[in-house]
Amino acid sequence: MTPVEALERVVHCLDRAHETGFKTKAFVRALEVVRATPVEELERLARRDELTTLDGIGDSSASVIEGALRGETPAYLADLEAATHVPITPDGARYRAALRGDLHMHSRWSDGGATIEAMARTAIALGHQYMVLTDHSPRLTVAHGLSAERLAKQVDDVAVLNDTLAPFRILTGIEVDILEDGTLDHGDDVLSQLDLVIASVHSKLRMESKAMTERMVRAIASPHVDVLGHCTGRMIGKREPSAFDPDYVFAACAAFHTAVEINCRPERLDPPRPLLALAIQHGCWFAIDSDAHSTGQLEWQPHGCDRAAETGVPLDRVINTLPVDELLRWVGRA
Ligand SMILES: [Zn+2]
Ligand SMILES: [Zn+2]
Repeated sequence: MTPVEALERVVHCLDRAHETGFKTKAFVRALEVVRATPVEELERLARRDELTTLDGIGDSSASVIEGALRGETPAYLADLEAATHVPITPDGARYRAALRGDLHMHSRWSDGGATIEAMARTAIALGHQYMVLTDHSPRLTVAHGLSAERLAKQVDDVAVLNDTLAPFRILTGIEVDILEDGTLDHGDDVLSQLDLVIASVHSKLRMESKAMTERMVRAIASPHVDVLGHCTGRMIGKREPSAFDPDYVFAACAAFHTAVEINCRPERLDPPRPLLALAIQHGCWFAIDSDAHSTGQLEWQPHGCDRAAETGVPLDRVINTLPVDELLRWVGRA
């Protein structure tokens, strides 16, 4: 393990523990510094016990670098691996074992922190056979949403990566914004080029219920939309769920073959349990997705698996348990 790999793994572990504070920022900074410093220079400084003279290297990051240079797993990292392990219940583990992929994640192209390749390599290490890359659409300017041109470029990059990573498959996709009137933040020409489309509400979440219901149903009915992302938009403890008529919304999901996402982000866990139970009654399909914005967050599927197990989501209605060819048939692309 090189110092860069050791620090990357530290950041990965902090991310999977949803540690977003000072410690993570400090290690991300240390990682940048170490990436920019020749290994001979790191070795020279380590011999003199002077690693902390590098701007951005503190005691903890220095100990990680020294451990890696000695050819050991740094003790700091070993402790962190154990402390940040993502727990799962035995029932949830049955769902997790059945998942073959992850349908919702972001890369550096929008507001994620990792490259597409880093996300893919992590997905492979987690045992996945495929992933869908779903960066944001242009309206979400704060998240550097992808214009049609950038998306086309990304699709080309994914094709090159797929040659390297085969038999693993990166499917192309987008998390497209559901605009206020229920239309989507990209045209048919763009969306029809992608393997899978998630549609999510990110703006005007406080719309009154009837208008929100119409807005969501219109998007769900779009032939391009395969998955309805984090349907209530809630942020636990910070933002209340949006108001809509869930019977209409889930009936539409079942009728128009749009899977209801079980979003695994700990601050979302969306839909809440009662709505998830209702979606099951409506005979909906589901996708258990990490919505990861970093490699560590790809390890969040257990949160949704536990939720699915508790609520009794039928395992054979979870579309990311399908092999990739069957998934593509399910979305109508094969
Ligand atoms: Zn979203
Ligand atoms: Zn997302």
